[in-house]
Amino acid sequence: MNNRRVRVRFAPSPTGPLHIGGVRTALYNYLFARQRGGDFILRIEDTDTRRFVPGAEEYILEAFRWLNIRFDEGAGFGGKYGPYRQSERKDTYAIYVEQLLDAGLAYYAFDTPEELEAGRKATPNFQYDASTRARMRNSLTLPAEETRRLLDEGANYVVRFRIEPGEEITVNDLIRGEVMINSSVLDDKVLFKSADRLPTYHLANIVDDHLMEITHVIRGEEWLPSAPLHVLLYRAFGWEATMPQFAHLPLLLKPEGNGKLSKRDGDRLGFPVFPLEWRDVQTGELSSGYRESGYLPEAVVNFLALLGWNPGNGMEILSVEEMTRLFDLTHCSKNGAKFDYEKAKWFNHQYVRRKSDKEIAGLFIPVLEGHGIQAGAGYVEKVAGLVKERVDFVGELWEESSFFFSAPAEYDSKTVKKRWKEDSAARLAELSETLDACTAFDAQVTEEVVKLWIENKGYHPGDIMNALRLALVGRSKGPHIFDITETLGKEETIRRIRRAIEALK
Ligand code: GLU
Repeated sequence: MNNRRVRVRFAPSPTGPLHIGGVRTALYNYLFARQRGGDFILRIEDTDTRRFVPGAEEYILEAFRWLNIRFDEGAGFGGKYGPYRQSERKDTYAIYVEQLLDAGLAYYAFDTPEELEAGRKATPNFQYDASTRARMRNSLTLPAEETRRLLDEGANYVVRFRIEPGEEITVNDLIRGEVMINSSVLDDKVLFKSADRLPTYHLANIVDDHLMEITHVIRGEEWLPSAPLHVLLYRAFGWEATMPQFAHLPLLLKPEGNGKLSKRDGDRLGFPVFPLEWRDVQTGELSSGYRESGYLPEAVVNFLALLGWNPGNGMEILSVEEMTRLFDLTHCSKNGAKFDYEKAKWFNHQYVRRKSDKEIAGLFIPVLEGHGIQAGAGYVEKVAGLVKERVDFVGELWEESSFFFSAPAEYDSKTVKKRWKEDSAARLAELSETLDACTAFDAQVTEEVVKLWIENKGYHPGDIMNALRLALVGRSKGPHIFDITETLGKEETIRRIRRAIEALK
């Protein structure tokens, strides 16, 4: 067991857009596989045809492409353990269902929905198990010929797993330690349905984990209650020796910490719970995504990585390489992780400011084009360098920097009232001459020249600077004033000063 090659899988059911918690599960599997030099597999668990949603699989693939979380093998990637879509593995499952039936570890149940309903009515807390199965219509209670006849006639049936009561089952979980449960609380789970000739999740999941030689099952806490049943299934097949190690990740909780994070929390508090935007074809409803909300994929990955795990050294900004090196499944928290949306923004801010000016310019140019601005890449890069620290999102760059691309069409009235003094026009006229005389126009030179001029004249520096900023920006915001003059250049700076004098006099 210990010298097997590490193989982990992410096994989503294509029932809608992938929830952000699912993305975290995939990420932890990815980090774990990379760290161990193992394989990371994408398996599509689409045996529940009633819940199948067209487009969901494509969505999943696109989300991971965007996040740069790469699979080694699986649906859409190929590999020698395929097919990786469970709906394409019907024949395989049929063999294993047969095996359990032959061994007497599973049985046919012919109960109609009405009969099941009657069972529920007759017994409080009815469950189909050792205490009730003797009263139901199945191959354990019917004579063998009758069972044969029903099968030959093509009657509807399900195959149920025969669970014997009164046994302590231990699940060894890498995060939670030993979890014990008594088999008496489990019901005889349906493993297969004749109606669509498809297995249920439980059977398909176990058979595939075995055949695909999965070594570790890392998944959300919501699957912990299924784990004892899975242990019994491994045993029924005689696969205990290669049973994967379980690790059930902590839940993602609402920002307030009470209960599981849901789509409604996102709607209520205004943040996405999906990696990409998703439109529900039935209702037409659009759910927001991290990508469309302006997040950088690296920031989303970093944010998610720390929801349930941390490197233990206080580091918060981690590259995928660092996460891969430091990740430790056994140090994942058992308690739910609060979904702190403000923190997501903080991460994005950190990643925006760490990106090179050139990269930011590359992201910003399409935004500018959307505003009808065509600007040289070098110029955009320079602007990006001046304002990237001031935003959380690339989309906010326009708000912070539009004045670099078009002169203020109007001047903020509050600022005018406060900053444009009686003598401002005269002072700025003088200043424009001083600037015009500058032979070099970089920030350092202009700053020195202007400060010297102010000093010689005995003017109030604040008054001059505020008026200048108003003239160049149109309001009282923006980066260092001499960085602005340098970027705009001499001609444009002087033109804007003259325009302001005209407009505000
Ligand atoms: N198909 C299950 C899901 O949708 C997989 C659970 C597991 O990883 O075993 O999450």
